[in-house]
Amino acid sequence: MAKKLWDTSPHLALRAGPDFALAALDRSSTPGFTGDKADGQERMADRGELLSELQERLFADGKHGGTRSVLLIIQGLDTAGKGGIVRHVMGMVDPQGVSLASFGVPTKEELAHHYLWRIKKELPEPGKIGVFDRSHYEDVLVARVDNLVEEQVWRKRYAEINRFEQRLVDSGTTIIKVALMCSYEEQARRILERIERPDKRWKHNPGDLDTRAKWDEYQDAYQDVFRYTSTDHAPWYVVPADKKWYARVAITELVTQALIDIDPKWPNPRWQVAVQRRRLLSTVEPELAKHLEETVAEQLKEAKEEYGDYLALKDSVAQLKDVDNGERAPATTNSDQDNGEKDTESSDSSESSSKKSGDSAEHSVTKKSAGSGAKDSKAGSGSKKNTKKQDKKNKKKKSKKKGKK
Ligand code: AMP
Ligand code: MG
Repeated sequence: MAKKLWDTSPHLALRAGPDFALAALDRSSTPGFTGDKADGQERMADRGELLSELQERLFADGKHGGTRSVLLIIQGLDTAGKGGIVRHVMGMVDPQGVSLASFGVPTKEELAHHYLWRIKKELPEPGKIGVFDRSHYEDVLVARVDNLVEEQVWRKRYAEINRFEQRLVDSGTTIIKVALMCSYEEQARRILERIERPDKRWKHNPGDLDTRAKWDEYQDAYQDVFRYTSTDHAPWYVVPADKKWYARVAITELVTQALIDIDPKWPNPRWQVAVQRRRLLSTVEPELAKHLEETVAEQLKEAKEEYGDYLALKDSVAQLKDVDNGERAPATTNSDQDNGEKDTESSDSSESSSKKSGDSAEHSVTKKSAGSGAKDSKAGSGSKKNTKKQDKKNKKKKSKKKGKK
């Protein structure tokens, strides 16, 4: 059994509630995690394997009519490590199953629409893990700090965002919101590194210093985001981010646990195994047919020895959940109305104009339906690929073990 490294699950240790006090957050702390950097990196790699496995199931499920998806929303000020999460956490899974969207200063076209217009266009399809590098939360952060809209406009947005996210969750998306919170000093160090290092200069934007000058205003705006929009359906996890390794292992854990909770299953084929087997084997000489059957049976047997009942996996997933203290936070009392705003329609001009064009947040979240008509040939090649992959995984695992010895 793996070493127990979380004494409190990140679900509990990092979750923000209605009284969240950002000033009290120690940005170099590692809430819930008992190990050091090396433990964190090792655990992250281990969980990455499970994450990748579960992500493939989610993807397969989405291809066969499943409606589930995951949306990871990453917020944080400049240099907080948003890009590092995309690269190191999401980099552990098959890029085919990930849809990434980065939200910068809105374009002219985007500005002509409701602020959720560009967000809705990037929502993950069934089977996918969507990743937002910044998000609609900029519309209550930079929009507030830089007075891009009036206070009565951004204030209304908290409740509107809560409703929008509720509809998304209702349609099958698990939302994970993480905010990377660095200290003022650490941000200075990271910006200086960007200025000094020729290979990092491309990341520096002189405007980031103007944003830094408004540090306190941003802290206030972030605190309100956590207080008003950390709902039971889409809670905020506030991640101390001075230690990058901690932020990465914590977010890996949150995403992995979300997939464990979804528990996606391999879809059942719409064809008969025996019929397909017979048809395929009739295309080769009987002797080769026998040899092929034996080879594949041997591969499956080896995989089972290596992983236990690999194809069922359910039990081992449950076990892993236990190893990592998979506690989930109980429901809190934070509701959509907690910000003292009435749950009303948006009425500022840009938002009402978008209603005319049919982009009101009140529109139900539509999802592209995944093709569910699995053709025999496709599904067949899929399982062949699985066996191949299993074989590869076996080899990888074996060589890893050898390396450790
Ligand atoms: P970066 O993440 O470094 O590419 O920077 C993106 C910039 O776009 C940041 O300065 C954000 O504050 C800004 N940005 C993102 N969304 C919005 C928005 N809705 N309104 C205004 N600025 C935004
Ligand atoms: Mg930047």
